[in-house]
Amino acid sequence: MKTIIALFLLLAVGITGTDAQQRARPVDYNTVINEAFNLYKNEKSGHNADYIPYLDKVNSDLYGIVLVTADGKVYQVGETKFEFGIESIEKVFTLCMAMDIFGDSVILQKIGADQTGLPFNSVPAIELNGQKPSNPLVNAGAMATTSLLTSHFGHADAWNKVNEYFARFAGRNLTVLDELYQSEAATNEHNKAIAMLLKSYGYMYDDPVYACDFYTKQCSYGVNTRDIGIMAGTLANGGVNPITRERLLRAQYVPKVLAIMGTTGLYETTGDWMFRVGLPSKSGVGGGIISVFPGEFGVAVFSPPLDKAGNSVRAQTAIKYIADKLSANVYLGR
Ligand code: GLN
Repeated sequence: MKTIIALFLLLAVGITGTDAQQRARPVDYNTVINEAFNLYKNEKSGHNADYIPYLDKVNSDLYGIVLVTADGKVYQVGETKFEFGIESIEKVFTLCMAMDIFGDSVILQKIGADQTGLPFNSVPAIELNGQKPSNPLVNAGAMATTSLLTSHFGHADAWNKVNEYFARFAGRNLTVLDELYQSEAATNEHNKAIAMLLKSYGYMYDDPVYACDFYTKQCSYGVNTRDIGIMAGTLANGGVNPITRERLLRAQYVPKVLAIMGTTGLYETTGDWMFRVGLPSKSGVGGGIISVFPGEFGVAVFSPPLDKAGNSVRAQTAIKYIADKLSANVYLGR
């Protein structure tokens, strides 16, 4: 009997010990991002965006991962210095700026926060959603948000103000990739039409052609994987850049921005993404994706080939691996 009790106790201690060890185990971000990098370095599926000629020409093999913790540690692997087009990822930071200036209820009323379930540049989405832009992370809503900012600052100051804000988020001055901007500006008739349509419905707050051009320029910012990693890390850190320690967004608005990312950050495939991964994220057709695990870390992956919705294939695979490995899911609770 004594032996049985002793065995039972040993087993119990053993189990508790293992449990405690697992919980106490330091998170080895470096190992996890390296595993993700190596596992998918030969992944070739997807195609570069070809509706913007410049993006079609970017080397499809480029691949980088950067994870930035809320306390400012940076882990990186692969191609993290190459500058690519920020594209739709800019929409998150334009939203942050507008939210910080105008407040969340203005964003809800003048733009919206609902999923469209349709592609990022869908015209039917506007018609089907009460002739409204729906949310700030699709083209219609992003141009409307930009127009709030340009009319607020005035055309003479708007670019400098936005430029400064983006620079503070990335922790360095960002420049527009002129060749990308020219390539995009020469082919953005569809976006101009959306801006015009919104104007006719009363949801464009500045000259639509000006706002569309301003938005196109913002999409053409050159960023490297580290820049967008730090930008994601700033959202993970409650709106304070974890490297420079500067506050860029009031803490109360961070969950609002993340809620919109969690609703529409990967366009019409966001529901699947949140089901499979559970991290508020944002993609850009330049091949970047950022994901935010609030209070813990932001992670950015760059790899140009995209799926049909316009989201980097390899970035999704790598982020899913990292999130699963780290049990990073906003719905898990702590
Ligand atoms: N500049 C691109 C566009 O307006 C951005 C789209 C994206 O990254 N999804 O079409």
